[in-house]
Amino acid sequence: MTGAARAAPAACVIGWPIAHSRSQLIHNYWLRHYGIAGEYRREAVTAEDFAAFAGSLAARGYVGANVTLPHKEVALRLSLPDDRAEAVGAANTLWFEGGALRSTNTDVEGFLANLDAVAAGWDRTSDAVVLGAGGSARAVVFGLRERGIARIHVVNRTAERAVALRTRFGEQVHPVSAAELPDLLAKAGLLVNTTSLGMRGQPPLVIDLAPLRSGAVVCDLVYAPLETELLRAARAAGHPTADGLGMLLHQAVRGFSLWFGIRPSVTPELRTLIEADLAKT
Ligand code: NDP
Repeated sequence: MTGAARAAPAACVIGWPIAHSRSQLIHNYWLRHYGIAGEYRREAVTAEDFAAFAGSLAARGYVGANVTLPHKEVALRLSLPDDRAEAVGAANTLWFEGGALRSTNTDVEGFLANLDAVAAGWDRTSDAVVLGAGGSARAVVFGLRERGIARIHVVNRTAERAVALRTRFGEQVHPVSAAELPDLLAKAGLLVNTTSLGMRGQPPLVIDLAPLRSGAVVCDLVYAPLETELLRAARAAGHPTADGLGMLLHQAVRGFSLWFGIRPSVTPELRTLIEADLAKT
């Protein structure tokens, strides 16, 4: 490695396992696209080693990092989080500010920016239905609340986790049972799947879209397969849709701009690149 290459800004994604991550493809595409002499790598780091690794990020030559499973909660505790990371309870992006290790959660803006890009005006509804109450549901519910959705109805297999979302985010959140879905879908302008159902290797997501309000937007966070059964059925019924790959690409924007100083665009060329990679698995 030359001296010049060593001086180039570098970032990485830290996880365990990490081989499945597409972040490297996304950020290295942008580095090439904008002609930045930087680098983005994958770092396989166990839970045991994470704190030491995060503490030595700068010494390792990193200007920041993405953090993925299983480190997102620990990353929050080891850094100075912004409001979004604090509210979601997990950090996925680290950077340095005035010498301090800062963190944010970019799933919130990935979710919102993707909807804005593919279904502008989606937030002109007072009712949204969210399936699931895990980690990604926290980012989704926080984003919906931020955008002023009056009633966010949450259905989850484990009812207590939906109740916990209300405790965390307040009265806009309504934990509901699956039996209430048909009535709620009839008035919802947005349906979001945040469960892992429908993902390759997982059980299918079984839901009847027939009662869903005409014109309601359907969003699935699952991106493998790219076209989930939920999205296929929604498109067939004429609903606008937002897919998980769009969210994944949009959530990467903030990290890149924090580390490399340019706010990158989510282009059709980038999407095609990641789609081709997803098709390999
Ligand atoms: P979590 O493990 O935190 O949550 C999983 C959710 O799925 C829970 O609500 C869980 O219910 C539910 N679930 C799992 N199995 C079943 C089942 N058999 N029947 C009913 N419900 C079930 O995962 P995440 O929230 O982190 O991720 C969820 C999905 O979102 C994944 O597919 C992930 O890849 C995707 N994702 C996509 C992103 C993107 O950028 N596109 C970003 C983040 C996530 P329960 O509480 O009862 O266990």
